[in-house]
Amino acid sequence: MSLLVQKYGGTSVGTVERIEAVAAKVAKFRDQGHDMVVVVSAMSGETNRLIDLAKSIQETPDPRELDVLVSTGEQVTIALLCMALKKRGYDACSYTGSQVRIVTDNSFNKARIQQIDDANIRADLKAGRVVVVAGFQGVDEQGNITTLGRGGSDTTGVALAAALKADECQIYTDVDGVYTTDPRVVPSARRLERITFEEMLEMASLGSKVLQIRSVEFAGKYNVPLRVLHSFQDGPGTLITLDEELNTMEQPIVSGIAFNRDEAKVTLAGVPDLPGVASRILAPVGEANIEVDVIVQNVSSDNTTDLTFTVHKNDMNKARSVLEAVAAEIGAREVKCDDKVAKVSLVGVGMRSHAGVAATMFKALAEDNINIQMITTSEIKISVIIDEKYLELAVRGLHTAFGMDKDPVEQQ
Ligand code: ADP
Ligand code: ASP
Ligand code: MG
Repeated sequence: MSLLVQKYGGTSVGTVERIEAVAAKVAKFRDQGHDMVVVVSAMSGETNRLIDLAKSIQETPDPRELDVLVSTGEQVTIALLCMALKKRGYDACSYTGSQVRIVTDNSFNKARIQQIDDANIRADLKAGRVVVVAGFQGVDEQGNITTLGRGGSDTTGVALAAALKADECQIYTDVDGVYTTDPRVVPSARRLERITFEEMLEMASLGSKVLQIRSVEFAGKYNVPLRVLHSFQDGPGTLITLDEELNTMEQPIVSGIAFNRDEAKVTLAGVPDLPGVASRILAPVGEANIEVDVIVQNVSSDNTTDLTFTVHKNDMNKARSVLEAVAAEIGAREVKCDDKVAKVSLVGVGMRSHAGVAATMFKALAEDNINIQMITTSEIKISVIIDEKYLELAVRGLHTAFGMDKDPVEQQ
């Protein structure tokens, strides 16, 4: 007998019929003798609907009240799933994050889990109940409702699996595993049997939203066996695993391609090329709580230089006004912004031991006539910023160039 934590995402509980199908599936696992803890998301579209409601009243909704509002989405699905289980003759009990006592810090809208009180859940499991927990939410020390950021139900699942020392944390979704890249963009993408925590962490942080980045961090830190599977199709899914467990000799150089449409490019042009200038520009940006990603400074020709960096699209206008003030102060020529850019990244632990990945990448992009605006690399990834309109072309071209496409027979 083992303990499983299963998480079902928004589309998997998107209708009453699907909630009934999830109940039937959970019941089957229960019949096999597993102890079951089930985490559910809100019905698909619900979280967006609630956020839109909030924004129709306040352009920037009050963070505390926004969490009170959006946490209701998951409260609906836990109750409905328990009803569907009870109808089938299974004892089940639902919990909101605060009823479990999933304690988080007090950063509304992006809270971090600090501690989980597992007493109620353990007692229910002992009594033979299926435990159903609302994803995405917790409670701070003062009793305020908090939420964990978009996609946060994945993190609830993994954190519960870690706290309960579950045998496996299974993330059920609308694709049958983690693919070499988003299968909705590249139909020839391949499902990966396994991917390392390290690679999955990069993929998630570079834009692959199949798992929330914090869930991967948690799973890596507490060594939680984590698997991504399709909710309604049988199959092995993808196991997220430790580095050592993979035979690196057999690893491809590039394991996957991630991409992100959420960044915008900001340039401060005609900056006097003097020591300390980059910090005079970037310090106020940091003070304004704007996260900076890729940074490039051009070589100067006439004692002036251009400094370009990327920020989240939502922060572009804020960055523009910060930089306009800086420009006046340091005598820079102008501030330019462009939100029609995208970031494409190659990820793979195999890059550690192989040179030439960048050259192959740049050649493939050149063959498709795609101009590279910025480049950044680390040990296991290379990212480029390109014009947003070439994003899909770039991802498909790179997928082929690095030999990741499925065989034509497999594609049928
Ligand atoms: P859920 O609602 O179940 O949490 P998400 O929409 O958050 O589902 O995540 C699943 C989606 O992630 C898929 O439908 C797919 O389009 C997208 N995705 C992006 N990158 C990948 C990838 N590398 N492998 C699989 N799915 C990916
Ligand atoms: N319902 C939340 C969201 O849409 C959390 C989740 O589904 O993981 O972001
Ligand atoms: Mg998700």
